[in-house]
Amino acid sequence: MFIDRKYIEELLAEAKNVTDDKIEEILNKAESMEGLSHTEIAALLVNDNPKHLKRIFQIAGKIKKHIYGNRIVMFAPLYVSDHCVNKCTYCSYNCGHKFDRSKLTMEEVRQEVIELEKMGHKRIALEAGEHAGECPIDYILECIDTIYDMKFENGEIRRINVNIAATTVENYCKLREAGIGTYILFQETYHQPVYESVHKAGPKKDYEYHLTAFDRAMEAGIDDVGAGVLFGLANPLFEVMGLMLHNEHLEERFGVGFHTISVPRICPADGMDIEDFPNLVDDDTFEKLVAIIRLAVPFTGIILSTREDYDMRKKLLNIGVSQLSAGSSTEVGGYTKRAKNEKVTSQFKVSDERDAISIISELLEDGYIPSFCTACYRNGRTGDRFMRLAKTGQIKNVCLPNALMTLCEYAADYGDDEFRKKTRAAIELCVPDIVNSKIRNLTIENIEKISAQGERDFYV
Ligand code: SF4
Ligand code: SF4
Repeated sequence: MFIDRKYIEELLAEAKNVTDDKIEEILNKAESMEGLSHTEIAALLVNDNPKHLKRIFQIAGKIKKHIYGNRIVMFAPLYVSDHCVNKCTYCSYNCGHKFDRSKLTMEEVRQEVIELEKMGHKRIALEAGEHAGECPIDYILECIDTIYDMKFENGEIRRINVNIAATTVENYCKLREAGIGTYILFQETYHQPVYESVHKAGPKKDYEYHLTAFDRAMEAGIDDVGAGVLFGLANPLFEVMGLMLHNEHLEERFGVGFHTISVPRICPADGMDIEDFPNLVDDDTFEKLVAIIRLAVPFTGIILSTREDYDMRKKLLNIGVSQLSAGSSTEVGGYTKRAKNEKVTSQFKVSDERDAISIISELLEDGYIPSFCTACYRNGRTGDRFMRLAKTGQIKNVCLPNALMTLCEYAADYGDDEFRKKTRAAIELCVPDIVNSKIRNLTIENIEKISAQGERDFYV
């Protein structure tokens, strides 16, 4: 198996002996944006010399700026069912927690999508608990078809990433055929004994079946997969090593590793007690881990959810995070309830509870370009085709124009005059940064068509 607990523990122990000169060498390599091997990552993880730490943050900021510029891709989760047969101790949807569970009807899916489209979202992460009876693969496929078929005013969901339980090659084939974007699955923890102790019952308890889910997804032809761990379950250094070894395994076997990595930290939720988790990650360590991931896999998107408060989100945007959720609800039917001012519950506590436009405006004021781009998957730029473009730096030639065109569209449809004014200024400032003159001119033309002629959905 590609995750060997003893091997990781020995690596982390040996890494303490790495000399300062060697650390400098690793940091120089990181600065050239070619990524790091897992042994090099281990050396950075255990090192707590403030001089090196300072450089880790500087390089992470430099990589972030060079590869992702000031663009932040926006998305929102859509929870369709909270029925679950698993007993994960950190999640309020665990089967031991008694509450009224629900699953959206297709009409309710449409209502939720209307609310998401009213917020301007174009990219969602479809989420569901694991329950073969209540929430079989056919139900998920029906949700996907329903969502892609919908259009509300100028809104439409153009990319559905899917976060459902580990499943079979056959089911992954069905998801691929349904046109999903990324298949997302968090390992939660790579530490097998901890994994088995926090997954008390249900199919998810099977560590190996869960761990090999991306292998089956890739065998089925899904080439964009999104990984994650839940920081706070086991030693966080071990978790980063697990992520890196998992990524290397997929690169070796399928020629492409993770498309994204999510970095949630455990947070309080109904039906669990945060005091039960002895490995909670403090803010300083969390920032260091995110920066090291940025150095290790420069071309893999890093996703942060609304679990983190605005201050932490701001810090992490500078050193690595490239995708953010906004206006999120983690409850089944939560967007519709919110629109009706009904009381909402959720899978976990959200720290940034502001509506989407407030978060997006603030990003803009802070000099970021919120992007609603979904172009790659629609242009077939997935898996190794995406990574080739990313690694040669070509991806920038499409990300920036797409970000500007989708932001212009967002402002036209959802912003007020003040927001549109801010957007125009930001776009004017960024257009000259589009290096390719043909694409630059096309972007200017399309922006004109969006704002003056009401045309929509341009991408390169
Ligand atoms: Fe179910 Fe997922 Fe929650 Fe576990 S984490 S209880 S599988 S919804
Ligand atoms: Fe993402 Fe591709 Fe759009 Fe860039 S062009 S933001 S990589 S979808």
